[in-house]
Amino acid sequence: MTSASSMSPFPSDDPNVYRTLLESTRAIPWRIDWSTMQFSYIGPQIEKVLGWSQASWVSVNDWADRIHEEDRQKTVDFCVAQSQQGVDHEADYRALTQDGDYVWIRDVVHVVRRPDGSVDSLVGFMFDITERKKAEDKILQLQEELRALSYQDSLTGLANRRMFDMLFEVEWAKARATRHPLSLVLIDIDFFKQYNDHYGHPQGDECLKRVARVLDTVAQRARDLCARLGGEEFALLLPETDEATAFRIASRCRALLSREAIPHPGSAIADVLTVSIGVATIVPGSQDSPAGLMAQADRRLYQAKSAGRNCIQNM
Ligand code: GH3
Ligand code: MG
Ligand code: MG
Repeated sequence: MTSASSMSPFPSDDPNVYRTLLESTRAIPWRIDWSTMQFSYIGPQIEKVLGWSQASWVSVNDWADRIHEEDRQKTVDFCVAQSQQGVDHEADYRALTQDGDYVWIRDVVHVVRRPDGSVDSLVGFMFDITERKKAEDKILQLQEELRALSYQDSLTGLANRRMFDMLFEVEWAKARATRHPLSLVLIDIDFFKQYNDHYGHPQGDECLKRVARVLDTVAQRARDLCARLGGEEFALLLPETDEATAFRIASRCRALLSREAIPHPGSAIADVLTVSIGVATIVPGSQDSPAGLMAQADRRLYQAKSAGRNCIQNM
């Protein structure tokens, strides 16, 4: 059996080997004497990373002073508390460079204790994790964008069904609590299949975008929501809006689209694009549900279609 010491490639009586090793790593080694709070060692690599000379690291204050103001207190408090308890730890913080820039450092700290348990010194390694932090920030930003996109209809930029459902629940609860009416307007393009058949799907997409732009201008109060529920169906969710107002808003949808005069040769009822609309309003009670209001608006939309399309059904 070979003992660990005889396997070691380094002669244990030659400290220079360890020094060479320590000073050639990318991580920066350091040691602080606990009783004096002075650096007894810091690797020369520190100068390359932060610019400050090796000799300028005298006391623990030199370390604390070179931590970004926003990170300083919490980093120092954390490291002191962990060290006092004799617990190894690591901390990420921004360190000031001599040029006035900041470098993200991960400090990995080992607490060296005496046989009686008291703290003798701290030894650690500083790692430059700036690149990793940048990558992490990028990921967080992408996640944020993804989250935003997951609530947005990619074709029209309107709120999508998921966003609609979420806000519908929120507004429902508010309307119930405040006893205000909540209105829902469902808008469906007439003979849109024929529009696609006539012009092709890409132009159908352009048409949907145009309709979305128009509908998005109709209801302008802060909490009004215009969403694309899917296909060629759109919805306006109108908090604190009574039946008469909802009907006026639905009429405005038809009027603005009619003014847009989008040619629609495939339509069986007009030369231009038209819509059918179902409107429903409720002051929600304990027995009611968002699904119930949605079903009612949907039934009325269906009635508008049956009644010949290009009209509004609100009762
Ligand atoms: P109605 O008047 O009864 O509403 O008839 P319609 O043709 O509008 O309704 P239908 O539900 O039969 O057809 C809807 C069409 O909408 C069919 C589908 O190809 C088209 N459509 C759905 N989503 C999109 C889309 O994202 N882009 C395009 N270009 N067309 C779409
Ligand atoms: Mg349709
Ligand atoms: Mg439809």
